[in-house]
Amino acid sequence: MLNYQVGDRITLKKGHPCGENLWEILRTGVDIKLKCTGCQHTIWLSRLDFEKRVRKIQEGDKLVSIVHHKKED
Ligand SMILES: [Zn+2]
Repeated sequence: MLNYQVGDRITLKKGHPCGENLWEILRTGVDIKLKCTGCQHTIWLSRLDFEKRVRKIQEGDKLVSIVHHKKED
């Protein structure tokens, strides 16, 4: 399983209503706290929800599909 860290930037299946779809991880654990980089709005997702919705993770200056970052079951 991919180990997410505070400060990682990820995209979700569905972006935020403000039009942005790049989120910064603020807290990890049983629940994940995310901040929208467009409007600074924060949300909490359960780890399970997060794992289902996450699509890409930023590596350096590019976004990499999560399927290339961890093994599929
Ligand atoms: Zn937003």
